[in-house]
Amino acid sequence: MTRDPADELLQVIESRREELVELARALIRFPTINPPGEAYQPCAEFIGRRLSDRGFAVNYVRAVGTPGDSEHYPRINVIARREGRAAGPCVHFNGHIDVVQTGAGWTLDPFAAVIRDGKIYGRGACDMKGGLAASIIAVEALIDSGTDLPGALEISGTVDEESGGYGGVHYLAQRGWFSPPRVDHVIIPEPLNVDRVCIGHRGVWWAEIETHGRMAHGSMPFLGDCAVRHMNAVIDRLERDLYPKLAARRTGMPVVPSGARHSTMNINSIHGGQAETSGFPAPCVPDSCRIVIDRRLLIEESMDSVKGEVRALLERLVAEREGFAYELRDIFEVQPTMADRNGPVARSTAAAIRRVMGRKAEFVCSPGTYDQKHIDRIGKLRDCIAYGPGILDLAHQPDEYVLIDDMVSSAKVMALSAHALLVGSA
Ligand SMILES: [Zn+2]
Repeated sequence: MTRDPADELLQVIESRREELVELARALIRFPTINPPGEAYQPCAEFIGRRLSDRGFAVNYVRAVGTPGDSEHYPRINVIARREGRAAGPCVHFNGHIDVVQTGAGWTLDPFAAVIRDGKIYGRGACDMKGGLAASIIAVEALIDSGTDLPGALEISGTVDEESGGYGGVHYLAQRGWFSPPRVDHVIIPEPLNVDRVCIGHRGVWWAEIETHGRMAHGSMPFLGDCAVRHMNAVIDRLERDLYPKLAARRTGMPVVPSGARHSTMNINSIHGGQAETSGFPAPCVPDSCRIVIDRRLLIEESMDSVKGEVRALLERLVAEREGFAYELRDIFEVQPTMADRNGPVARSTAAAIRRVMGRKAEFVCSPGTYDQKHIDRIGKLRDCIAYGPGILDLAHQPDEYVLIDDMVSSAKVMALSAHALLVGSA
C-alpha cells in the first residue's frame, strides 16, 4: 500500500504548530509601520536568513527612488527561491511585511505578539504576518516531506502594500520578478478568511475636485464668491444624481461584503477657506474648496466612463451655476482585476480547502485592492489569488489578532495547493 503524500504533508504541518506560532510572533515583533516604513530591513533579513538556511537562494531588492525610500527608511524586499529536482512550474507566495499605524484603542501592546485564547494579538497579526508565517511553514513542510518535487518554490516578503505597493510588488513586477516563465502561479496570503479563495478586487479612482471662488471680507460676501457654496452644489449633485446611480449598479464579481457589489464612492475629505490661525477662523470669503473622492469601480465599468460621469456632472454645473469654476485632478487609479476561478491556482486551492476544512470553498472578490493588481497588470500573470488565515474584518483594527487554528489550517491548504500545482494534478 502506498501512502498518500498529502497525508504526510498534513502531519508534518500539524507537528510544526508551535514553530508556526513562534514564527508569526517573531514577524509581528518587527514594528514595520507604513508610513514611514519602519524596520523593513531587519524584517526582510530575518525572513531571508531563515530561508537561506533551508536552501533557498535569497535576493534583497531595494526599491530605490520609490515614494518614501531613503537611507533611513530603505524599501527592502526579500525574494527567496528554491529549485526542485527537475524542470517544472514555479509557485510563488507573496506576503507584504508592512503594517498600518497602530491607532487608538489597543488594550494590548501591538508589537508584543501576546497569545491569549488560541489567538495571537498584534498589529499585522491578521494583515498579514499570520498568513506570511503560514506560507513559510507550508513551503518548508513541502520541501521537508521528502517528495521529489519538480519546479520551483518562491517566497517573497514585500513592502509598501498598504500605500499602493510602489516600493514593493509594483517595483518588482516592473523588473520581471512576477512574470512567466520565472513564476507561474501566485498565492497572496492576505486575510480573506480561511475557507475563501479571493480571485480579484474592485478598481479604484481617487481624485480631487477643487472649486474656485474669490476672496472678500466676510462682512461683505456679495463682493466675493464663496468656493464652499460652490462645493456644496457639487456635493448636492453627487447626492442627488450620482449616488442613486451607483447604488443601482450591481456586479457579477462575488465581492464580500455584499454591500460592495455595487459601485461606491466615499468623500474622503473636505478642505475649504483660509487656514485657521491659533484657533480663529479666517474672516474671509473662501476662494478655494477641495474634496477628495474615492470611487470604487466594478469589473463591468470602464475607468473612462467612471471619470466621464463625474466630469459631466461638473460640466453641467458650469453651464447652470453662475461663477462656477472647477478643477478635477487624478490622484491614483487601479483597474479592477479578476482571475479565472477555474484557473489552476484557484482550483487547486479550493480543492485543498475542501480536503483540509471539510467544506466547500467560497470564491470571493475583495472590496479594496491589494498587490494582485500589479501582478496582473504589470507582471502579466493572471493565475494569482489571495488566500490566507486572517479574518478580513479585523484588518487595520485595534486588538487585531489571528487564530492559531486558522494559521495551521491555511498552512495545510497552501502546502496541498502548491503540491498539486507542482506535480501537475491541479
Ligand atoms: Zn494586507
